[in-house]
Amino acid sequence: MINTRRIQSVLDVATLAEKVITIVGTGGGLFLALALIRSGLRRLRIVDPDTVDDVNLCRQFFTKDDIGKQKVEATKEALLAVDPEADVEIFPLDVTKLCEDDKKAIFAGSDLVLALSDNHAAQSTASKLAIQHGCEFMSVGIYPGGQGGEIFRMRRNDPACYREMFPHRFVQHEAAHVAGKSLDPTSDGAPISVGTLVDSIACDIALGMLTAGADNRYGRLMEQLGDRQLLVIKIDPAWETSPERDLIRDELGIDQENPFYVAYSTIAMAAASDSISQPCHDCQQYRGCVVE
Ligand SMILES: [Zn+2]
Repeated sequence: MINTRRIQSVLDVATLAEKVITIVGTGGGLFLALALIRSGLRRLRIVDPDTVDDVNLCRQFFTKDDIGKQKVEATKEALLAVDPEADVEIFPLDVTKLCEDDKKAIFAGSDLVLALSDNHAAQSTASKLAIQHGCEFMSVGIYPGGQGGEIFRMRRNDPACYREMFPHRFVQHEAAHVAGKSLDPTSDGAPISVGTLVDSIACDIALGMLTAGADNRYGRLMEQLGDRQLLVIKIDPAWETSPERDLIRDELGIDQENPFYVAYSTIAMAAASDSISQPCHDCQQYRGCVVE
């Protein structure tokens, strides 16, 4: 068991040790999984169908010896090297093609689902299965070219699910799917620092979700964020959400002449009220959200 004496003043490690999390997509997710294990998490379920390739080493925490192994297997080995007593269950499966028994084994009884895949189908499926099994949910994504990233979280009583936070994204991906195309951006151009910066913030949010209510810094984080379920992170100083628009500069009201503003900044946002006034089918059925 990890000696957590040096972080116990800010984090409810005893509560964390009782939690179960499910990680969907463990390429970039290995860093986040390692951070959570080092924080005192003991029980993880990890889902990923891929094997480690030599191109992964420049930005994922695998080693040369891992090439050719299943990513879930290599992840388990890396986690057990830090905490040999951790309970790590692995599933070398595609989350969009699970049978009912596997869905249950992976999601039932999980406190938090972390969707860390780089494709929309996996992220949206993980969200749906989290809702159906009563799990809390977080997705982490890197924007094209690694210029920025986003972290979305849904606790059980939060207003929006993933679909309700990004209704236009679902419409666009579904239209592309029907047309036989994919809108998933290639993750080329996102070096390791991009992923670990976003994942470090995601680790903080996950610890806040798992230990909410504790009388310490992480225990207060969810209350401080309130209904702001989305963090958008700017990494590249040249990042623009659309031509001529820097979302973070605009939302923070930072003047163009302000010399202090560059990058490595974040904003927290709530879902648009019109996208949650008509809860999705899964929220109506499994979260008890009603149309007002
Ligand atoms: Zn929903």
